[in-house]
Amino acid sequence: MKRQFTKSKRLYKAAQDLMPGGVNSPVRSFNAVGGTPAFIQKAKGAYTYDVDGNKYIDYMSSWGPLILGHSDPDVVSAIKKAAERGTSYGAPCENEVTIAKLIVKYFPGIDMIRMTSSGTEATMSGVRLARAYTGRDYIVKFEGCYHGHADYLLVQAGSGATTFGTPSSPGVPKSFTDKTLLAKYNDISSVEKLFKKYGDKIAAVILEPVAANMGVVLPQKDFLKNLRKITKQNGALLIFDEVITGFRLGMGGAQKYFGVTPDITCLGKIVGGGLPVGAFGGSKKIMNMVAPVGPMYQAGTLSGNPLAMAAGLQTLTKLNKSANYKKLKTLTDNLVEGLEDIIKKLEINASINSLESMFTLFFTSPAPHDYKTALLCDTKKYSKFFENLLGTGIMFPPSQFEAVFLSLSHTEKDIDKTLNALYKSLKDL
Ligand SMILES: *Cc1c(COP(=O)(O)O)cnc(C)c1O
Repeated sequence: MKRQFTKSKRLYKAAQDLMPGGVNSPVRSFNAVGGTPAFIQKAKGAYTYDVDGNKYIDYMSSWGPLILGHSDPDVVSAIKKAAERGTSYGAPCENEVTIAKLIVKYFPGIDMIRMTSSGTEATMSGVRLARAYTGRDYIVKFEGCYHGHADYLLVQAGSGATTFGTPSSPGVPKSFTDKTLLAKYNDISSVEKLFKKYGDKIAAVILEPVAANMGVVLPQKDFLKNLRKITKQNGALLIFDEVITGFRLGMGGAQKYFGVTPDITCLGKIVGGGLPVGAFGGSKKIMNMVAPVGPMYQAGTLSGNPLAMAAGLQTLTKLNKSANYKKLKTLTDNLVEGLEDIIKKLEINASINSLESMFTLFFTSPAPHDYKTALLCDTKKYSKFFENLLGTGIMFPPSQFEAVFLSLSHTEKDIDKTLNALYKSLKDL
């Protein structure tokens, strides 16, 4: 039976008149893959249901946050209870202390934390903090790493072969990004070159310790260790943007996983349990720069919001059993191994990068190790694949350059169903 999208189409048409692209965040519009985005009516566990009554096995997990699955009963109940006690106080509450304690306990690089309302705010504030602490202006970021939409971080492709950042969006003055230096992911010599030239002017190196916004790209052996070394040698700070990897790779994020401790850590997504939350943290010495103790200003009307803290705390508490991460990894490995077999069998030019409960199927091979090799993907093929897969009721991310996220709600039965659908969708390309 062919799926109907009558109501989604009607809503999409109305939405396009009211919002740019009909959406409140660009990738949702399916621009990268074509077609009409399914308007979701409800979601439970591993499944989403659209307004036309179609059901999907969901592998977006809201772009990462929903590691327990959709509308987890304990998380929903915690939010309800919190809401009945008031939606916002503009004053501190107990759950802020409880969740801070939990984060500090598990993240080696965090002794103190400040909550924000988004990942963008977390990285923006993390960079400001590094600049304030070092008294330096330059930052180094990597091609293909995404850190939210703050002006000076919206720099990706050094197409002009220049090391100075070129804004990848109009509306960002050139002068806002000329303190952003670009390096190549997994290429320590590109970082060494920048330090040679700007060494005592670089405040920080910021990166996703496992890149997940050019598709999943893993750090090669010693890449993170070498970044730790070179920043230390030059008096610069190392910032891990763990908005995705935090609580995804384990309770201590990528820093625990790889045994490399950054100076500043940025969190988001899972830490909010599906509500709008971000956070940045570091050692006491660094965090004491932040107002009101220190001179670096940072604030938020809804920061540490009681509903968001309740959702985050319940999510982290429930997640915090080592068996859970093992279960997530086993599920993901089964899916990835099955998919690898299919690729081989159908002789498709594709590859997979995967770590713990996230992965990307790239329509290129060998698997990408940086932005340039990620861009070799056949995005048209991905679009067709995405459409085929959606037609069977499986929701992968609507872009080649995003990650598939599994949740604790996915079952082996879902994985089997998904592998059948993947086979069909890839065979029909
Ligand atoms: C999603 C994301 C952000 C931005 O978080 P928002 O909550 O969307 O502002 C920052 N860094 C990384 C690595 C992300 O994946």
